[in-house]
Amino acid sequence: MIRTLPLTCSRCGKDFSAQDHLYYQDDFSVQSFKNIKLVCDECIHAWQEKWQIVHAEFHEHNYVLTVTITLKDGTVFENMDCTPIEDTESVITGEDIPPEAQHALYEYYVTFAQQREAQQLKDCFFTKGTEEVMFADITTNGGEHYEKLAFTIEEGYLKTAQEVPDYILEGLVTAYKSYLAQEEMLSTSTQPAAPRVTQRKAMPQSQWPSGGSYGENNYGAGSFGGGFGRNKKNPFGGF
Ligand SMILES: [Zn+2]
Repeated sequence: MIRTLPLTCSRCGKDFSAQDHLYYQDDFSVQSFKNIKLVCDECIHAWQEKWQIVHAEFHEHNYVLTVTITLKDGTVFENMDCTPIEDTESVITGEDIPPEAQHALYEYYVTFAQQREAQQLKDCFFTKGTEEVMFADITTNGGEHYEKLAFTIEEGYLKTAQEVPDYILEGLVTAYKSYLAQEEMLSTSTQPAAPRVTQRKAMPQSQWPSGGSYGENNYGAGSFGGGFGRNKKNPFGGF
């Protein structure tokens, strides 16, 4: 049976003509060829024109990478899941974006990855102060240094005496957790002499408050909300 397929754009609804190729939208719900979602040249051009990225900000939390993209026309796509593909030097997002924009996005990603690498803690040494105060000597891969950074654990939250960036705080939490785990291993035979901090971490997890927001509880409207606050996660949970 011979049938005809009118060239009607699935986006703008206009009839169009084509020369050596057709654009169509990949759609797995399309079962029949006649339902194929054609896209006209004009809509393709408008799409390519629209996807001019002027800013992209990557964010990684719990191994999930997201990106917020700002386009030249002012459109903002917030926190899209994305996957960088090293081989093709592109970033794939939930949104259908032109290959040129995927490459442009990859440039932003490389900058982000380098910055993230520089922000990782290279060294972190702990010393005990009086009562529950601890001190940390921190150096990042990028050479940023904090000497004797005082901190305490208050109601399940790690609180530093001075303001530090989110990435320092996150690195410090991770480092201090492994420090405590190590301490626990070393002190299993000398339990009674364990300091209060060590006693606290031995509490069952249910005793650590988990409903609070990091930002709201400890830092007010300051710049420390970060990933912790938004996700209502206790950064010191998991003990
Ligand atoms: Zn169209």
